[in-house]
Amino acid sequence: MSSFQTVRGMRDFLAEEAKMMRYIEGKARRIAELYGYKEIITPVVESYELLAAKAGEEVRLRMYTFKDLGGRMVALRPEFTPSVARLVATTLKNEPKPFRLFCVGSLYRYDEPQRGRYREFWQSNFELMGSNKPEADAEILMLTSDLMKSAGLKNVTFKVGHVGVLRGIMKSEGLKEKTQNSVMQLMDKKQYEEAFKLIEKAEASQKCLDTFRKLVELKGGEILETLTKLKEHVKHYDEASIAVENLKEILELFSATECKININVDAGFARGLEYYTGMIFEVYVPELDIALGGGGRYDKLIELFGGEPTPAVGVAHGLDRIMLAMQKQKACLELKEKKKAMVIPTKEGLKGTALKISNILRKAGITVEVEVMGRKMAKALEDADRRGMDYAVIVGERELKENAVVVRDLRKREQTTVKIDKIVSAIKA
Ligand code: AMP
Repeated sequence: MSSFQTVRGMRDFLAEEAKMMRYIEGKARRIAELYGYKEIITPVVESYELLAAKAGEEVRLRMYTFKDLGGRMVALRPEFTPSVARLVATTLKNEPKPFRLFCVGSLYRYDEPQRGRYREFWQSNFELMGSNKPEADAEILMLTSDLMKSAGLKNVTFKVGHVGVLRGIMKSEGLKEKTQNSVMQLMDKKQYEEAFKLIEKAEASQKCLDTFRKLVELKGGEILETLTKLKEHVKHYDEASIAVENLKEILELFSATECKININVDAGFARGLEYYTGMIFEVYVPELDIALGGGGRYDKLIELFGGEPTPAVGVAHGLDRIMLAMQKQKACLELKEKKKAMVIPTKEGLKGTALKISNILRKAGITVEVEVMGRKMAKALEDADRRGMDYAVIVGERELKENAVVVRDLRKREQTTVKIDKIVSAIKA
């Protein structure tokens, strides 16, 4: 048989990377705990219909879709939000609002593999459901800022926009939702001219086109100034004007938190997922041109899934990309290395005692590996050294008669005989 490799777009995480991934996951988990987001675990496989309902063309076409053996059309989840919305529309529907829910795990999209873009990737996902207030949006920005900081990332920028601006204009121009979605998809891919052609074809007014052209130019700068210009550009469109006001409120609340994150208001910013209805944002660092996370408000999804009308706002953080950014910025992990010991029996008959001693140490929280290769002492010590052990615990017949073992400090290259009931303190010291 030919030697197997991972499937294209899939990766193995070896020890270093796996540790880093779990470290970032731990940071996200801690943020969830500090903000009161309860973890839920949802299935990787969901019905195709649920996942496709509002995903948007881009994600929909990239789903891993198949029929299970019972003939059901299913797919591997490309995101968490539909699963969380499904739960809120069904099992959790009578629970008191708001819901603060947290998920972490792997997702699947048939994206073209490149640095930071994989077919299996990891996210931490936070959803705040039940509130349509700007403070809920600000909370999602705030916890994202906290996560980026706790991962040690610097110079983080939030690109922020509001779906209600572009959609508000298109709606007053009488554009159908399907056309609106296509325009948003094109805008998301920065294919502005194609987007404008669609708007023209839908017989929108010249004023609409002119406004769109102004909006895609409007980004960056001082927040209030940009918002004032934005307000001026859309003043003839009521819904769009309300959207700008809402964005202003959210950003004022967020500034009050003194999170000190760079904010780049981007009036022409659109995101591929179709369910967004309000503020949208993405997270960037200067070293990478791909987003480390993204989210926004989606007030209609839960209703669409048959639940009570439930406004909601959420964010997904791309853990693989946060890891890449940490590597680029050389953000170090605060990993506390614990003491590690290797227990080595000096002869066949002492293997059982070696195992017993290994457990005395583990119960005290010391990481222990037992020599299982049948190596002679010199080779076993060499191996313990290579594995970065701090101590070797040598189990020998002579010492055992005195209820003792030899504890060798592999860093100082010193050894002493220690009574078995004293080995924990000898190693911890
Ligand atoms: P989205 O649900 O598309 O907004 O994605 C949220 C975040 O997930 C993005 O900002 C990325 O950080 C991450 N992400 C999305 N797709 C991929 C992928 N194919 N590979 C790695 N990370 C991804």
